[in-house]
Amino acid sequence: MKVTCPVIRDILPLYAENMVSDDTRRLVEEHIASCKDCLKELDEMEAAHPLPPDIDTAPLKKMKMALRKNKFHAVLFAVMFTLAAVVVVAAFLTAPRYISYSDSAVTVQEKDDGTVLVVFGDEVTGFYADHYSAPIGPGNSYHITAWDSLWSRYICKKPVGSAVLNKDGESVAAVYYYDITSRAGKIIADGAFDILIHGQNQIASGGVATLPRLVLSYYAFIALILVILCAAAAYLFRRHAKTRKAFLKVLLLALAYLLAGLCIKGLNFASYSAVRDFLAILLVTVPVYIMLLAAINLVRDYRRP
Ligand SMILES: [Zn+2]
Repeated sequence: MKVTCPVIRDILPLYAENMVSDDTRRLVEEHIASCKDCLKELDEMEAAHPLPPDIDTAPLKKMKMALRKNKFHAVLFAVMFTLAAVVVVAAFLTAPRYISYSDSAVTVQEKDDGTVLVVFGDEVTGFYADHYSAPIGPGNSYHITAWDSLWSRYICKKPVGSAVLNKDGESVAAVYYYDITSRAGKIIADGAFDILIHGQNQIASGGVATLPRLVLSYYAFIALILVILCAAAAYLFRRHAKTRKAFLKVLLLALAYLLAGLCIKGLNFASYSAVRDFLAILLVTVPVYIMLLAAINLVRDYRRP
């Protein structure tokens, strides 16, 4: 097919905007090399719409995009770090500091109508009461403990005052105070002795130990096992990008949970306030997980040539 001027003129606008294939470009260039009319047409076109110098802008755009992504990941990392830090500090400030037993901290009053009232000292800003059917009976055996926190001591003090133990009129066989601080001044994994403060002793040996919940230690152990298994699986599936990625994500999640646990509980996962601690750990796990993902992306962005 002979390439005529009208054909070239049809293509020229596209050629001028650098939107033609290499073959077409060659065709046009061959033609205008020998056709002054078409060359003039092209010059006029370019004069009317001056174009930026003909360079391939794709690499530049890619770089811009990478920089933008980089910035996004850096900001994400910083935001998540702040969020995690805020939760850790809040959890630290509000962590229960168990109060050892004294009759100024806790007293029990039984009223004429059978209501049993626990009256706490001013320093008590939180308490926990557990009960079960008394072995000797009749009625329930109650186990209480009381605490304050750095927050309530130094920032905002809201004393508990008093609380009714038997709200539904149950009979109270005994009330124990479980003194978590009584041994070595810190939470210990083998429980502390409960002190009878009201009623008739329900335990033949005279002492009963309220045990800390070990559930958080089990969770941490499961997370650790998950980290190891996922690392092994990711290695085994190193040639299957998708599978490997999935295992690495689970690994990161378990790792984030472990890190969050360390931030909230330190190395001692035994807890007398397991639900509270577990929620705090979950609240830290989420930002730490996103933080780890952002960090990995940051490193990847840096390494990419
Ligand atoms: Zn021509």
